[in-house]
Amino acid sequence: MSKITNVKARQILDSRGNPTVEVEVSTKSFCARASVPSGVSTGKYEAFELRDNSEAFRGLGVTKAVNNVNKIIAKKLIGKELPGQEELDNFLIKLDGTKNKSKLGANAILGVSMAVCKVASREKGRELYEHIGKLYGTKKFTLPIPAFNIIEGGKHAGNSLDFQEFMVWPVKCKSFSEALQVGSEIYQELKEVIKKKHGKSAINIGDEGGFAPPLTCYEEPFELILDAAKELGYENKIKLGIDAAATSFYRDRKYYLEGTEASVSDLLEKYVEMSNVYPLVSIEDPFHEEDFENFSKLVKKAKNCQIVGDDLLTTNVEKIQKAIVQSSCNCLLLKLNQIGTVTEAFNASKLVMQDNWNVMVSHRGGETNDDFIADLAVGISSEQIKAGAPCRGERLAKYNQLLRIEESLGKKAKFGK
Ligand code: PEP
Ligand code: MG
Repeated sequence: MSKITNVKARQILDSRGNPTVEVEVSTKSFCARASVPSGVSTGKYEAFELRDNSEAFRGLGVTKAVNNVNKIIAKKLIGKELPGQEELDNFLIKLDGTKNKSKLGANAILGVSMAVCKVASREKGRELYEHIGKLYGTKKFTLPIPAFNIIEGGKHAGNSLDFQEFMVWPVKCKSFSEALQVGSEIYQELKEVIKKKHGKSAINIGDEGGFAPPLTCYEEPFELILDAAKELGYENKIKLGIDAAATSFYRDRKYYLEGTEASVSDLLEKYVEMSNVYPLVSIEDPFHEEDFENFSKLVKKAKNCQIVGDDLLTTNVEKIQKAIVQSSCNCLLLKLNQIGTVTEAFNASKLVMQDNWNVMVSHRGGETNDDFIADLAVGISSEQIKAGAPCRGERLAKYNQLLRIEESLGKKAKFGK
């Protein structure tokens, strides 16, 4: 392996126009660049995203995190042999020394962790997904089923929908490229369906490229998506998913749904009913981020749906262990920046895979054109990915990279489950 010749971070802007960290790591022969995403509806237990709290960028600048890379981390790495991923990540965790990476910032640490992963793959002459596969111990690569967030609500949109994401799952497709085609056609058809029903001003979009029409009740997005699918003859090719992101409508120990107070049992019944009436296969964060118990109840009651833990688990093995003991979920939402290093994300994923859970690799509300998560999904064979709508450059960066990987793997990879 060669020596690290440079580590350089800078502040760039993400898809929402907010500052984020970009890191370049160089060896004599290669240079790799990684940029760090940022959540909109962030979980309380996520690793710490270091921001400046100064006047610039209304407090959201990341110059402190950038300086931590350039002045602290770089000094320790430049001139050293390129370390293995685990060695690097353990070193960064130790250098930070806090439980939630609040000293150096998880955004500083993750930028370095991802950039080293990328440069190491080039040093070894491997595609990034192959390199990740070797690190993870993957036997056979899988192209993931994409869950496209095509109608947005919650914190991601300026409408009154309480649930954050209404996703279409092209489950009955033979390949990733076919799934992307189906998702994209439905997205374009949905635009027409929304325009016809709610007028031109209803086709504005939310943070992840999905439409954000002025709707209020959860049935409407389901109906609109099913109408669009039917129009194209795709009604049997697709299923639906939601991210309720329930912490965002939970206040003072109560849920507020569609303008009224909902008890936990009301909410539980609503999810069960929803899964009986609609072709729903995935429910993410149905209850608030500390409610392991009611997650478990839903796992037992909504038999046809996977129950996905995002804010509940924050890609954190301690939280995941608790959820495994209580059977609170059967799918982990895997977000690199919730935990802050590539190795820790691997560990989270391995833990749930041992227990036969599903893993859905995920983007964040605030994204960049970095396509690392596409290679991550294939490298760990996660079988599922969500990267927003099939629209907007920072979302398509991931889906388009999956097309390239599909092309390069050909018949060597399977698709979905
Ligand atoms: C999510 O909640 O799953 C999501 C992608 O949004 P955010 O990045 O805002 O947490
Ligand atoms: Mg979520």
